[in-house]
Amino acid sequence: MNRNSLNFSGGPGALPESVLQQVQQAVREVPEVGLSILGISHRSDWFAAVIAELERNVRTLLALPDDYHVLLLQGGATQQFSMVPMLLLHGATQPAEYLHTGYWSGKAVRAAQGHGPVRVLWSGEAAQWWRLPRDAELPFSPTAPYLHYVSNETVEGLQFHRVLGLDEVPRVCDMSSDFLSAPCAAERFALIYAHAQKNIGPAGVTVVLVRDALLARAPEGLPDFLDYRTHAAAHSNFNTPPVFAIYVVLLVTRWLLHEVGGLARMAEINQRKAQTLYDLIDAHPGVYRGRAAVADRSRMNVVFELPDAAATQRFLAQAQAAGFSGLAGHRALGGIRASLYNGLTLEAVQRLAQFMEDFARHG
Ligand SMILES: *Cc1c(COP(=O)(O)O)cnc(C)c1O
Repeated sequence: MNRNSLNFSGGPGALPESVLQQVQQAVREVPEVGLSILGISHRSDWFAAVIAELERNVRTLLALPDDYHVLLLQGGATQQFSMVPMLLLHGATQPAEYLHTGYWSGKAVRAAQGHGPVRVLWSGEAAQWWRLPRDAELPFSPTAPYLHYVSNETVEGLQFHRVLGLDEVPRVCDMSSDFLSAPCAAERFALIYAHAQKNIGPAGVTVVLVRDALLARAPEGLPDFLDYRTHAAAHSNFNTPPVFAIYVVLLVTRWLLHEVGGLARMAEINQRKAQTLYDLIDAHPGVYRGRAAVADRSRMNVVFELPDAAATQRFLAQAQAAGFSGLAGHRALGGIRASLYNGLTLEAVQRLAQFMEDFARHG
């Protein structure tokens, strides 16, 4: 298969070549079924087996304890911004604690505020979102109903390289842009959510890992569809789920397990990819300036700036012509963003680094 461009966009991300080949086959016909993946019943035994294997693979990759549900939901991460407070903020007297570290966590804060008391424990706004908080800046309350944060701020290129919060307060984390890119100590979180379209598949499905005990806190009277218990009881097959998207996520988990060799190995590869670009950026301080504080640099989204708007435009035009797609920074921020999700190869990143080296030398 030959494509003309490499996908460095903020999302949906690149998928592994071997997965794309299987998808191509499956669109024509899933061999063991004899039908196109686009027309297989969600009530078939085959699809029940797909969900079961996907769930098993996620459990294996993360060494997830048995008391967690693995749910496959719709509505993206954005729906989780509301489903989480619907579950956990109902009737709360103490505020839930949120970290406002960038674009996506800001959306989560605004969604939660409609459901109950919310305290923004730390905001990066005064620092224009160039760094994350240190532990000393986070006076966590032991009586908060939960703590919510975003592990990787996709727009600003900031990533927490540690688990935050107090063990006695349920941790809730939006891992949409770094889920299954590295081990994440899942057992330390009460609820993790991550849509598929950055590291593990196409848009249309969102993985939620939730501790069973947390669901006991659900208020009565939630709409069925917005109640995690509905989906847990139905094994993620309550109404017609996105069969195609779920199948692709299954293929990616197989790839992670059997081709990559697990999340520690995936983390090494992702670390090398990110380091390749950060080294190049740091080697040319007159041309490139990394946006994030060095300690908080994301391994998924490398965000940097050029000296002025004209240089940025020249860089983007030349990169596009050379086959590097999606490098324009988020519309909220400008600049350049190279997103290095699981499916993007080290070789692709090395090619971008070579392009950036040439650009730094010759403009
Ligand atoms: C991309 C992104 C989102 C948005 O997710 P949707 O599935 O489009 O709702 C939310 N959170 C994070 C961290 C993201 O990177």
